[in-house]
Amino acid sequence: MNTRLAVLVVSAFGLSACATTPTLFPTAEVTASSETVRVAGTGDAADDPALWVAPDPARSLILGTDKTAGLYVFDLSGVVRQFLPAGRLNNVDVRDGFLFEGRAVPLAIATNRTTRTLDMFIIDAETGDVSAPPGATVPLDFEEPYGACLYAAPDGGFHAGVTDKEGAFVQLELRMDRDGFTAIERRRLDLGSIAEGCVFDDRTGDLFIAEENVGIWRYPADPDMGDERTQIAAIDGRDFVADIEGVTIYPEGADGGYLVASVQGDDAYAVFRLPQADYVGRFRVTADPETGVDETTETDGIHVSAAALPGFQAGVLIVQDDADDEGGQNFKLVDWAAIARALGL
Ligand code: CA
Ligand code: CA
Ligand code: CA
Ligand code: CA
Repeated sequence: MNTRLAVLVVSAFGLSACATTPTLFPTAEVTASSETVRVAGTGDAADDPALWVAPDPARSLILGTDKTAGLYVFDLSGVVRQFLPAGRLNNVDVRDGFLFEGRAVPLAIATNRTTRTLDMFIIDAETGDVSAPPGATVPLDFEEPYGACLYAAPDGGFHAGVTDKEGAFVQLELRMDRDGFTAIERRRLDLGSIAEGCVFDDRTGDLFIAEENVGIWRYPADPDMGDERTQIAAIDGRDFVADIEGVTIYPEGADGGYLVASVQGDDAYAVFRLPQADYVGRFRVTADPETGVDETTETDGIHVSAAALPGFQAGVLIVQDDADDEGGQNFKLVDWAAIARALGL
């Protein structure tokens, strides 16, 4: 607390002393509406959530990793529907429309540190059951597969992006045919240093990757477009503090909306307006005495959706909480409307 206060005081002094100092955005506060059941793993266990929006939005599913054990499937009320003991899964992502056994189905991927593989899961859109079909796993040559993100490309291809702790990124095109699942490596990037969070913007063909101690980069999602990158956010120790964990996109229209980044170092979430990715502010998730849902700290993986869901008509941000007030770790659900109000979006 004292460190944070000191930083704020220094920044405020800097503002008055120098007219060219960028505006210091105050950190907004929002509360979570609800939370999931805690994951069973002890210590640092819950890591990264993803949301599958069902045809009937009320039956949508939250996928959440327990990085000591496997994959949880929660319903929107936070109750556990399923647990798949797949191993030490780190990050998870989901997309609709993957061609599997002649049908377009929802596909989830997760990085598995037990088997050093990328694991694939199919969601039955009718029943909401999540399963790992036999052979639905791709070996990775990473010591510790870390972040994971999915890209539904305009040509119908499905790409998985995987990061590791050495700063490598590999982009694999996933297919399912008579021979089973295959993954073709489309490109490999050296990001520079440890990187976890990544997200593809299927609308614009952008790929955003968070280099934990450096900032956020934008690459072309299409490997044929080259590997030139631009930095859209740099860690400055003030608005943006190491390390950056999850990155996720709230889409509006053809290229608008927001990029949200989880800033673990000061328990906050930074928001950037798309398509330029201009910084618009940040917020913390604080305890709500009315609902009894506690604050989020040392925030990790996040996932935002703009889909209208029961109780979340403007969408929902799902965030990992490092310390649930009842012990252990879980995921919190934050109404996007509350975030938009708090930041004046
Ligand atoms: Ca991390
Ligand atoms: Ca993480
Ligand atoms: Ca709680
Ligand atoms: Ca908490």
